Amino acid sequence: MIDIKDNLKKIQETIELAKSRSKESQDKVLLLAVSKTRTAEEINAAIEAGITDIGENKVQEILEKWDHVSPVRWHMIGHLQRNKVKYIIDKVCMIHSVDSLKLAKEIDRRAKQNDRIMDVLIQVNVAQEESKFGVSVGKTEALIDEILKLCPNVRVCGLMTIPPLTQDPEEARGQFRQVKEMYDAFQNKRHEHLAFTWLSMGMSNDFPVAIEEGANIVRIGTAIFGARTYPT
Ligand SMILES: *Cc1c(COP(=O)(O)O)cnc(C)c1O
Repeated sequence: MIDIKDNLKKIQETIELAKSRSKESQDKVLLLAVSKTRTAEEINAAIEAGITDIGENKVQEILEKWDHVSPVRWHMIGHLQRNKVKYIIDKVCMIHSVDSLKLAKEIDRRAKQNDRIMDVLIQVNVAQEESKFGVSVGKTEALIDEILKLCPNVRVCGLMTIPPLTQDPEEARGQFRQVKEMYDAFQNKRHEHLAFTWLSMGMSNDFPVAIEEGANIVRIGTAIFGARTYPT
């Protein structure tokens, strides 16, 4: 039996330990429970145990679960197709996976229609893997500048990254560090729609390393809910 409450307790302890080893002083590390493939019952158990924010990577799953999950903040963390933005624009508090101006413009358009500002993170692809989503390191600043210029209903709140899955989480450390350096470089930039406060990196296998390198959102599924029984 998976004991969600017990898993969360252990993860929080690991988070605190990693924070104490970090050179950064993260006041807060937000534990985002990644609930893809999980039932509303499982998600509600996590909320009951103290989870305030959940992450889903598919629009369809958000819509299916929406009516059955207790009040919580929803985050979109997966690749988002432009034609699906309209379904979640009034449901999520943050979109972690913005990697093109076209997508940002559609989010902007739908946010405006909904009379809101949408918080987004820019997904950076450090490894330059062709199979993965995300904007390359070299194009990140230009993308952010364009969003700030053209998308008044979008607020750029930081960066997100997904390093390639490796056996040894240490292998991801260099990439986390590189994204943290990019994140720091934006701290000096001032713009009405720029609020660089979130660095979303680290999953079940590598979150302590990510926190040591400065992450302040970790996206954790397996370590909370157990192994997923079907792939997504
Ligand atoms: C599935 C997923 C996670 C969580 O992965 P685990 O290894 O189960 O912790 C984090 N981020 C994204 C974008 C995901 O799709």
